[in-house]
Amino acid sequence: MQAMVDVLVVGAGLSGLQAAVDLFEAGLSVLVLEARNRVGGKTCSVQRRDGKGIQEVGATWLNDTNQSHIWRYCERSGLTPVVQNINGSIASEDSDGKCHLFPFGEMPMFEKSEVDNIISLRDMVEAASLDQETFKRPKRARLNSITFEDWCRDAGAGPRALQTAKLWCRGTLGQDADEVSALA
Ligand SMILES: Cc1cc2nc3c(=O)[nH]c(=O)nc-3n(C[C@H](O)[C@H](O)[C@H](O)COP(=O)(O)OP(=O)(O)OC[C@H]3O[C@@H](n4cnc5c(N)ncnc54)[C@H](O)[C@@H]3O)c2cc1C
Repeated sequence: MQAMVDVLVVGAGLSGLQAAVDLFEAGLSVLVLEARNRVGGKTCSVQRRDGKGIQEVGATWLNDTNQSHIWRYCERSGLTPVVQNINGSIASEDSDGKCHLFPFGEMPMFEKSEVDNIISLRDMVEAASLDQETFKRPKRARLNSITFEDWCRDAGAGPRALQTAKLWCRGTLGQDADEVSALA
């Protein structure tokens, strides 16, 4: 028996699911195909092994200002947002297994030269992302032709700063710095 639908949506992450809802509401029949055994894509909530609630292992933070769609979904689903705690300390583990505690909003306690290098890289990334020229030719094309990791090296990132930038990239984009373009 052949199943006929108007549209096939590949991927049941937030984009695919939203596309399916929009198409369905527009009166089309839709089939969503997902490669994994769950929906949600890069959003994923897991039960903690110690039984103390749920842990986000994918997307975690949202806001009601520039993420108004997803915010409305949360409201519609009766989810209760929790304000991010910004007091106290952050615990971080180096790639070599060393653990540090440092105050929220400050830098991990690396060597001063390493901290300065991280701050300088962070400021360069921020400046580039706020500069309109970044998104216009010819800069845009060049940035799209190199990886974020290459960009960081060109910007003078030493080993510690590079490690930190890789962490930013994983945490915010869910991809490794050698997988995404500097433009992304
Ligand atoms: C660790 C982490 C933390 C993040 N934190 C935040 C955050 O705090 N705030 C925030 O706003 N965003 C965050 N993000 C980003 C956010 O999760 C993503 O932007 C969003 O979930 C992407 O949704 P998507 O539907 O576009 O893609 P995806 O979620 O990647 O969905 C794509 C789906 O398509 C499926 N698929 C791919 N190829 C095929 C195929 N050939 N056939 C069938 N199925 C296929 C995949 O299995 C997947 O389910 C984070 C991401 C990660 C990984």
